Amino acid sequence: MGYAKPIPVVIDENRPFWEATKRGQLLLQHCRDCGAYRYPASVLCPECSSTAFDWKPVSGRGKVYSFVIFHRAYHPGFADELPYVVACIELEEGSRLMSNIIGIPPEQVRCDMPVEVVFEEISKEISLPKFRPVAGNFIAINQAPSIGPPIPPNRPMP
Ligand SMILES: [Zn+2]
Repeated sequence: MGYAKPIPVVIDENRPFWEATKRGQLLLQHCRDCGAYRYPASVLCPECSSTAFDWKPVSGRGKVYSFVIFHRAYHPGFADELPYVVACIELEEGSRLMSNIIGIPPEQVRCDMPVEVVFEEISKEISLPKFRPVAGNFIAINQAPSIGPPIPPNRPMP
C-alpha cells in the first residue's frame, strides 16, 4: 500500500523548497531587501512586500513555538499514528513552519523545546521535513522527576 496521507502539491513557487528537502536540506526564501526568511513560499515578502528574494539554506534548528496533540484522525491516513503532534516550529532564522514533532511521546512535548529537522521520505518526489528534540534536551526531559505523587484512585466519600 502506498502513502495514505495527503501529499504536498509542488508548484513553481515552492519547487526549490521540495527539491531541497529531497536532498536533506531545508531551504527558505530570503528577502534581498529586508533579510527576512519566509515560509510558505510566496512572491511577496510578508515583512516589506519586496519581490526580490534568494533561496538560502537554513540551519534546521529551532524551537517549539506552539503545538497541539491530535487524538482524533480527521483523515483516515492518520488513524494509525494517534496520538500525534502538530507543531509550529520557530527556526533560529526567525521563520515559522508547521510540522510534526517525532521521536518523543506527545505528552513530553513542550513549548520552547529545542528541536532539529529530520526528513521523512514519503515518495520518490517528496520528503517531508519533521522535527525531533535535540538529543540532550530529550534525555533531560526523560530524566526529569515526575510532578508530585501519583493520584490515588477514587475513594468513597466519608
Ligand atoms: Zn522583505
